[in-house]
Amino acid sequence: MLEVKGIAAASGISIGPAYKISKEEFVIAKEPIEAGDIANQIQLFEEALIRTRKDIMELQKRIAVEMGQEQAEIFDAHLLVLEDRMLIEEVITRIKQEKLNVAYIFSEVLKKYVSVFAKIEDEYLKERIADINDVGKRVLRNLLGKERKWFEELKEKVVVVAHDLSPSDTAAMHKHKVCAFVTDIGGKTSHTAIMAKSLEIPAVVGLESATAKIKTGDTLIVDGSMGSVIINPDEKTLRKYRQEEAKLKGITDKFFSTRDLPTITKDNKEIRIHANIELPDEVPSAKLHGAWGIGLYRTEFFYMNRNDLPTEEEHYQAYKYVAEEMKPYPVVIRTLDLGGDKFLSQFEMPQEMQPFLGWRAIRFCLAQPDIFKVQLRAILRASVHGKLKLMYPMISGIEELQQANKILKEAKQELKKGKKAFDDNIEVGVMIEVPSAAMTADLLAKEANFFSIGTNDLIQYSLAVDRANEKVAYLYEPAHPAVLRMIKGIIDIAKNSGIRVGMCGEMAGEPALVLILLGLGLDEFSMPPSVIPEVKYIIRSVSLKQAQEIANEALGLSTGREIEKFSQIKLREILQ
Ligand code: PEP
Ligand code: MG
Repeated sequence: MLEVKGIAAASGISIGPAYKISKEEFVIAKEPIEAGDIANQIQLFEEALIRTRKDIMELQKRIAVEMGQEQAEIFDAHLLVLEDRMLIEEVITRIKQEKLNVAYIFSEVLKKYVSVFAKIEDEYLKERIADINDVGKRVLRNLLGKERKWFEELKEKVVVVAHDLSPSDTAAMHKHKVCAFVTDIGGKTSHTAIMAKSLEIPAVVGLESATAKIKTGDTLIVDGSMGSVIINPDEKTLRKYRQEEAKLKGITDKFFSTRDLPTITKDNKEIRIHANIELPDEVPSAKLHGAWGIGLYRTEFFYMNRNDLPTEEEHYQAYKYVAEEMKPYPVVIRTLDLGGDKFLSQFEMPQEMQPFLGWRAIRFCLAQPDIFKVQLRAILRASVHGKLKLMYPMISGIEELQQANKILKEAKQELKKGKKAFDDNIEVGVMIEVPSAAMTADLLAKEANFFSIGTNDLIQYSLAVDRANEKVAYLYEPAHPAVLRMIKGIIDIAKNSGIRVGMCGEMAGEPALVLILLGLGLDEFSMPPSVIPEVKYIIRSVSLKQAQEIANEALGLSTGREIEKFSQIKLREILQ
């Protein structure tokens, strides 16, 4: 038995066998095929080659414009790999002889090529290995289609163990196949961790050496609340955790008891509790946990795990569904927040030294107005089906807000011309997640209908701590006095300007900090559905006056650790 400590990313306890995902991008199942399926498999292969060729040529074109012809020519070598007759014929012959699925055969042939090239003492040929691997991954991605389906081969629920999981890997996981996951790297508010909370799968990240210490098949206890993982526990430990699991269920039932009641403090201040969702599929969970609205719909997940961009109609159908399902409650649709730790396979985004400070979110959308407008038109069209609001991510100053609104105006004009109905008075909000936006909130308030404080980014930018880096996770402190002062400033400005202010960063769902936020005057909290019942229960157990006293006392303390401890003590007193 061995216990390893990491960062608690999504709470809950799960016990199950480990399933290690290799660092390689694809785990490909070996599947026998019928003789009648051979022609189909060969056709799939040919289609994937054509598609890959098209992808590379498009990429080349863009690189030629952005970086020059010489850089674009690097990809000629990739196109040559795709035309290699020997490779293609070997794959086709082996499909016919071995009667196995094309993805498996192709990956085997690829491996053989790489190992042959690796043995040759020739620098030029050695360099070709990278080309073969790169092209191979592209072909496999096209062969495997939209989703990576490694989990489909699983026979029982497993604990996924990986060096890292991208947010799109996590989004593709199925709850009935994965009972927890643990990773070597990552932080508490990385999008992978956020996705785990949405899926209600316990997760521990930032374990550093999980993949080195754990083998597939090991029994694991994952305690997502304490951030610990126990490898091959003894009987006594297993019994203890099974009891913990049952206790946790008892507490959850207690919180659920007030789920359908309004969120009001003991002195009758009504608070709005909304849910954060990444996919329309999460709407039933939001409702089940007692959300009275969606405060953040992270639409970028809609662009993930697919090879093309969503069409306006696809966007429209998704937003219409969410709007109708949540009616009469509001739904805040956040426009595409790509970049940072969220990448899409459709765009070859340039490799950046500091992606969180780079070409992301509204910066990307303003540079790609055609892509942006497709989404804006769809949100506008869906606005007639419920109470939709739209919100821009990563606004750093008034000019960006004005530029985005100009594109919104164009989208409205296009719809008017096409005689398409929409709500002309749709509310437009701004995420306050960049310190410069917090410092100029008074200016932004003049041209926005509401603010939503995005603490996940606001904390990383104001404390200069990468939210996804486990090495500096100890510095990522939501209760840091600088963060609390900034939040207070934003709330005060919003109130003085007469606009609504909410919070949709993970901090809004941190039980102990809820008391401080309530006391600072926050009246809209948006969080992963799974934490709503607990937050509702806490708010119903306290008066606004008590919360204001707690917030004032907290603002007088000088370290994040002191504030965190103080708020924990206060929470315990209140829930007694
Ligand atoms: C935030 O930054 O707080 C936020 C809610 O947005 P995201 O986590 O998607 O960056
Ligand atoms: Mg953000």
